[in-house]
Amino acid sequence: MSLPQFKLLRPKRVAQAIEYLVKYSAPQLPAQTSCGPDSRRRLSLHDSGEVQSSSTQNFTLRVVAGGTDLIPSMKQKLFEPEYVLDLRAIRELRGIRALAGGGVEIGALTTLREIERSEFLRQHYPVLTEAAATVASPVLRNMGTIGGNICLDTRCLWYNQSLTWRKSCGFCIKKDGDLCHVAPGGTKCWAVFSGDTPPALLCLDAELELASASGARRVALRDFYTGLGDNYRNLQPSELLTRVFLPASSAGFTGVYRKLRVRGSIDYPLAGVAVVMKRSNGHIADARMGITAVNPAPLLVAGASELLAGKMVDECLAEAAGDMAAKMSKPLTTSALTPEYRREMIRVFTKRAVLAAAQAREN
Ligand SMILES: Cc1cc2nc3c(=O)[nH]c(=O)nc-3n(C[C@H](O)[C@H](O)[C@H](O)COP(=O)(O)OP(=O)(O)OC[C@H]3O[C@@H](n4cnc5c(N)ncnc54)[C@H](O)[C@@H]3O)c2cc1C
Ligand code: SF4
Repeated sequence: MSLPQFKLLRPKRVAQAIEYLVKYSAPQLPAQTSCGPDSRRRLSLHDSGEVQSSSTQNFTLRVVAGGTDLIPSMKQKLFEPEYVLDLRAIRELRGIRALAGGGVEIGALTTLREIERSEFLRQHYPVLTEAAATVASPVLRNMGTIGGNICLDTRCLWYNQSLTWRKSCGFCIKKDGDLCHVAPGGTKCWAVFSGDTPPALLCLDAELELASASGARRVALRDFYTGLGDNYRNLQPSELLTRVFLPASSAGFTGVYRKLRVRGSIDYPLAGVAVVMKRSNGHIADARMGITAVNPAPLLVAGASELLAGKMVDECLAEAAGDMAAKMSKPLTTSALTPEYRREMIRVFTKRAVLAAAQAREN
């Protein structure tokens, strides 16, 4: 499979990248896609006059960071942008910096390998280093960035395929069609968010900085995802994710991340659980749980803190936590493993993660 033709833009500063976004990012007209008129249905004029797309697919420009997800997707003709904005020369987007008042900022272009190896993060935010270390393989973690992991496209058996494959089966809502093979009769796309670090970042109360021509805005990570499989993130095509912030109040939690995958050495999660915990006198003082790869968005498990806080961890409590996380997971047949198995593994992994977090040494 070859890459489609595109023009490469290589800014050296964030400001220059934003200029390119303003100049070259526009909704893509159907004639420019490989599949033609169906795409027209996906674009509509909003009241504000702004063109809205119900899919994140059809824009003339795509941002590339490490390229470990975008480039294979472009080869499959899931994206055929006219311009590719390569962020890799922007040095100001790299690095992990402890903040004077506590907390830390992580540049969007920081690689997963740097995160995995950061002694500062391991000491203060161990759930993040643990989750980062499970992404794909060492080679991909050397290229893949935290920004790319957060902005990762959602996945589905019917979508992550070559153009020939998709053409022969019929296109779907997420790309060029208007039906869903997974939930026929519905109008929603259920493609699944399959990044490993976001459930850990959710547990740590992470915030994102999104930059655009009108300045920078900060959003809580929990508000970044829409819960829709196609238009899955609240990121305008003219915006760039520049930094990730972790607050001082989230430092010092013990943390555990567990994931289910087909190939242990290199695979996306098919179910993933992050658990963080603070203890005091043998009791849980505070705890949070996040899940991934079983819904169109990574989610914080609602009610987890209330269930766990003030209690001592035992099998029974860990099982109740597993039940709670399993209830929030709604996997469908978007992957090779059955939804029932994936939901069950959320239950099992949550239980194990709660028991392990209670054993972990506090820094
Ligand atoms: C074989 C294989 C196995 C994999 N296994 C895993 C896995 O186990 N777990 C996992 O989480 N991922 C996995 N991945 C996916 C990928 O490697 C990682 O998610 C990686 O972190 C993506 O980062 P990147 O910098 O390469 O993103 P890119 O591919 O460059 O970009 C991904 C998306 O994010 C957008 N984007 C990137 N940076 C920004 C930014 N700063 N602002 C706005 N938009 C941005 C891009 O436009 C694109 O839509 C796997 C990939 C492969 C090929
Ligand atoms: S969930 Fe449905 S619409 Fe979404 S990618 Fe899969 S088949 Fe397509």
